[in-house]
Amino acid sequence: MSRPLQARIDLSALRNNLEAVRRRAPASRAMAVIKANGYGHGILRVARALCGADGFAVTTLEEAATLRRAGVEQPILLLEGFFGAADLAPIARYGLSVVVHHRQQIELLAHVPPPTRLDVFLKLNSGMNRLGFREREFGAALGRLKELPAVGDISLMTHFASAEEEGGIGAQLDVFKALTQGLPYPCSLANSAALLRYPEAHADWVRPGIMLYGASPLAERAAEELGLRPVMTLESEIIAVQRLAPGERVGYGGTFVAPAPMRIGVVACGYADGYPRHAPTGTPLLVEGHPSRTLGRVSMDMLCADLSDIPQAVVGSPVVLWGEGMPVEQVAHAAGTISYQLLCALAPRVPVREEH
Ligand SMILES: *Cc1c(COP(=O)(O)O)cnc(C)c1O
Repeated sequence: MSRPLQARIDLSALRNNLEAVRRRAPASRAMAVIKANGYGHGILRVARALCGADGFAVTTLEEAATLRRAGVEQPILLLEGFFGAADLAPIARYGLSVVVHHRQQIELLAHVPPPTRLDVFLKLNSGMNRLGFREREFGAALGRLKELPAVGDISLMTHFASAEEEGGIGAQLDVFKALTQGLPYPCSLANSAALLRYPEAHADWVRPGIMLYGASPLAERAAEELGLRPVMTLESEIIAVQRLAPGERVGYGGTFVAPAPMRIGVVACGYADGYPRHAPTGTPLLVEGHPSRTLGRVSMDMLCADLSDIPQAVVGSPVVLWGEGMPVEQVAHAAGTISYQLLCALAPRVPVREEH
């Protein structure tokens, strides 16, 4: 028998979550964000399950090429655009759309025109100060793009820094509106959090990522309440049981000390599988469907679970690290990170089982 750890990927949950996007933003086209190997779920299986999306967004040319070679026909947007002149020919060949966020990219389009016209998403830096033209440069950049024979359809976009937080999107939305009002171009602003919280930001294209995978981007709303279903369930089994006397320690460094006699289970999942090493004692998981917690340090291939309140748990008992019944957001929160990082970090050695 093989090691009991696996990631179950529920493709019907992906379709359900795209439906949730449609219900929330019925008037917008949906560009499914499937960068980082579909947030760790496998880019091709995600694209196939989301074949009803109006477009896909990725980061690398390799990801986009993988999709085109597999027969994906929708628009594919490169979220960081192109990085040099050599990228332009394959981008044109694969018929990709590009984010243009920097003056050098416009210079390249002018001086090394691709063999066919490229559709462009011109990006405004409305306050996040990551990618995009500043307000004072935006008009000139747009004017320049309009003149270039290398440019096909133009869309306008920005990205929000705090759509899931108190600060919200107000200031950034005002900046975007002030610069784009009345212009005859489709616009794209909303990530999952903005899609869920700010209908006024839906515009022509929404760009959901995390919500498609069934995790809530909002601290105050659970995924289930939002009609989302977890796509990835990381599950394993107990492979050993230990009985501890008071004062005995668990794992590397002995950071957990048993306060009383207790039973613990050793779970076949560790940081080499993508489980966060910095998850402290108390990080939630399920054993035999019952809530439990990790004990001590996470090792490379194993972690330990508290079986104090689960007397029926034995070697072979099922464990859910995250997914169905154990929201990945809760595990991430306990580990001081976000669901995105846990999902993206699923290690290639973890076998995947698709469910339809
Ligand atoms: C990753 C990304 C998204 C998706 O964000 P989520 O929070 O996962 O919905 C949308 N737009 C851009 C520009 C991104 O980089």
